[in-house]
Amino acid sequence: MASSLSAVFYRHNLLDLIYTRNHSRDFCAIRGDYFTTRMRLMATVFAVLATLWLAIDYLFLDPAYQQPISLLRAAVAGLYAWMAIRPVRQHDLRAAHLYLVAFVSFASVFYIGARQIMPHAEMADAMLVGYYFLPFLLVSMLALFPMTVVESVGYLLAIGALFWGHEWLVGDMHDIVTLGNAWLLGMMALMAVWAQLSQLHMLLRLYREATHDVLTGLTNRRALMNGLQHEVQIAHQTRQPLSVLLMDLDHFKRINDVHGHIMGDAVLRQFGALLAEVIHAPSVAARFGGEEFFAVLPDMPKPDAMAVAETIRERCAALVVDSPMGERIPVTVSIGVAQLNANEATSQLICRVDEVLYRAKEGGRNSVSVA
Ligand code: GH3
Ligand code: MG
Ligand code: MG
Repeated sequence: MASSLSAVFYRHNLLDLIYTRNHSRDFCAIRGDYFTTRMRLMATVFAVLATLWLAIDYLFLDPAYQQPISLLRAAVAGLYAWMAIRPVRQHDLRAAHLYLVAFVSFASVFYIGARQIMPHAEMADAMLVGYYFLPFLLVSMLALFPMTVVESVGYLLAIGALFWGHEWLVGDMHDIVTLGNAWLLGMMALMAVWAQLSQLHMLLRLYREATHDVLTGLTNRRALMNGLQHEVQIAHQTRQPLSVLLMDLDHFKRINDVHGHIMGDAVLRQFGALLAEVIHAPSVAARFGGEEFFAVLPDMPKPDAMAVAETIRERCAALVVDSPMGERIPVTVSIGVAQLNANEATSQLICRVDEVLYRAKEGGRNSVSVA
């Protein structure tokens, strides 16, 4: 998992469907919650259905298998009921994966247990007990989760290994029914991967739209505040420096008034592109609102942050933005720089850098001020 708000995330869209390495911390947390909500619901459904099925065992199952199968079913229903009610860590993709592994394992225990209890069962009995379609059920259930290719293949291989491994152990590998089932399972697995990737792709797009500014493509204020809060926590824990920049374009209202809003937008876009060039992960540049921008510079002390601010100020003053009339629009920026103090809260840091920016404005604009 990369740094909190890494912009890398979107440049490699295709790779983001394959593995999670470039997924932001925030996106992983959201996906973790997605997983747990769905699994909790499914664990409830499994617990209820398995309990109701006890009556069917009692009414229709060969008495020779009845007691052990019912015991096994009741035990697995209990495990699912436990899964449905136990508290799970929120915003934690790793915990969600463990939860899903447990979910699949409980079903596997039932599958293998039932096959051991009724090794030479007729198809009708196997269908009745329900183990026959369990691998198919698990594969189709996986289609509900937005997963990367790597995650998906991991789960599908595990379910495949369970199915074939068991057939191999009992020596049924060349049975035509087994081959047919394997084929069907393979086709369903393909559909499941397709469904998972489509969901992940949609989630990535929605996430991008919810966390990025439309005009400049930079991180938006909401995502910035999330990420900043996290970085402040990390900086306090690790005692590493954390600096921030607050930037405000000078006399921007005048640009709008003289050249029109379209040109104002063009200036904002160009300044955004400049920031994207200068600020690299793990640092993050964001549009704070209007013509104000913010940068979070983890692991960077004040002198280095001042140098970054000076580079931005100089490059902004050198920006060439031409109006439709062919005139060059002058653009300058004022920048406040602050380094996080020990035990300082995020809101205090923002207030402080805001005051520093005010000093840069008072001092004549096109300048960098430091707390
Ligand atoms: P100062 O140097 O003191 O910062 O002066 P200023 O004119 O830049 O500041 P002021 O706060 O008076 O004006 C900011 C202007 O930015 C007003 C608002 O119309 C304009 N603005 C905010 N968001 C956008 C936008 O998305 N596009 C355009 N074109 N203008 C915007
Ligand atoms: Mg302003
Ligand atoms: Mg301004």
